[in-house]
Amino acid sequence: MKLALDIKEFTEDRLAAWLKDQGLEPYRAVQILRWIYLHQTDTFEEMTDLGKELRKLLSNHFTISRLAKAKIETSQDGSRKYLFRLEDGKHVESVLIPEKEHYTLCISSQVGCAQGCRFCLTAKGGFVRNLSKGEIVAQVRDIANHLDDAKRLTNIVLMGMGEPLANYRNVIEAVKTLTDSDTGLGFSSRKITISTAGLVPRLADLGRESTVNLAISLNATDNETRSMLMPINRKYPIETLLDACAEYPLLPRRRITFEYVLIKGVNDSRQDAERLAGLLRPIRAKINLIPFNAYEGCGFERPQEASIQTFRNILVQKNYTVIIRHSKGQDISAACGQLSGQYDA
Ligand code: SAH
Repeated sequence: MKLALDIKEFTEDRLAAWLKDQGLEPYRAVQILRWIYLHQTDTFEEMTDLGKELRKLLSNHFTISRLAKAKIETSQDGSRKYLFRLEDGKHVESVLIPEKEHYTLCISSQVGCAQGCRFCLTAKGGFVRNLSKGEIVAQVRDIANHLDDAKRLTNIVLMGMGEPLANYRNVIEAVKTLTDSDTGLGFSSRKITISTAGLVPRLADLGRESTVNLAISLNATDNETRSMLMPINRKYPIETLLDACAEYPLLPRRRITFEYVLIKGVNDSRQDAERLAGLLRPIRAKINLIPFNAYEGCGFERPQEASIQTFRNILVQKNYTVIIRHSKGQDISAACGQLSGQYDA
């Protein structure tokens, strides 16, 4: 049996072209997409401003699918991990993080990951496949639909499973739907962040094609350490990466976020903090320090609280904005770098 195509994989242009091919009015695409994203509609039957014939034709050709929620876990601190089962039986995770005024949703861009970062649990299972545009958007659409207070969901970070820039096209198309206020989910691009391990050739493309925020996972201040932690550094070493960042087109008042996972005895010395301050000098930067989140068999440790503070203070003295990300959801393995998509039930 051939599976019907999920209509959410279509862009507005492609849907309009499809309608035209059927001898129908292309502007219907706008109506259809508004039903799907603004009204969270699940069936073509409910699209009452479309003719009966068109609704039938759409039902015959397309599905409006949702991701199956294989498991939902809520942490003591209020964050919530969603494990989704995809059409082909693979799994990905998304994490909803309550903040003071809003929710931030951390979504995945791939099943597994090919980057092989030594400290990251997602890396352990290797790369499985890219998520489609529809699967990326569906994490947001379905979780918004699951919330009583969906209005509070304002921020999205692509910091879940996978390397967003290694799935560039689908991520860009997904961002278009997430930010489209007419026929999409209407998020502000200021509130969306793409985080990358540093796929340098894609940075220029991203800067040209979108105005979302950029976060770079730097994680070390010398090439030897960074290459050990993040194999991608052998291809695009620190200087190359930071040159690309210095040239990245930033909107006024925007900065690039540099993420730095603090690992005891590996990258957490005073010298590291000082080198980091020097390296970022030419860039409009802010810094997120993420104390390492341990998991079974990881082989790394989180530094003592005092050395985390020392590291931070050095950067603050050098006039950087520094946020320490004490990750939420540790009791449900939903913290940074703990997502595995493993499903054994
Ligand atoms: N591939 C992208 C996005 C996913 S990782 C990237 O590399 O940016 C999101 C962030 O989690 C990265 O900054 C990464 O360095 C961090 N991270 C991975 N494993 C971690 C762990 N065990 N503890 C703390 N942070 C981790």
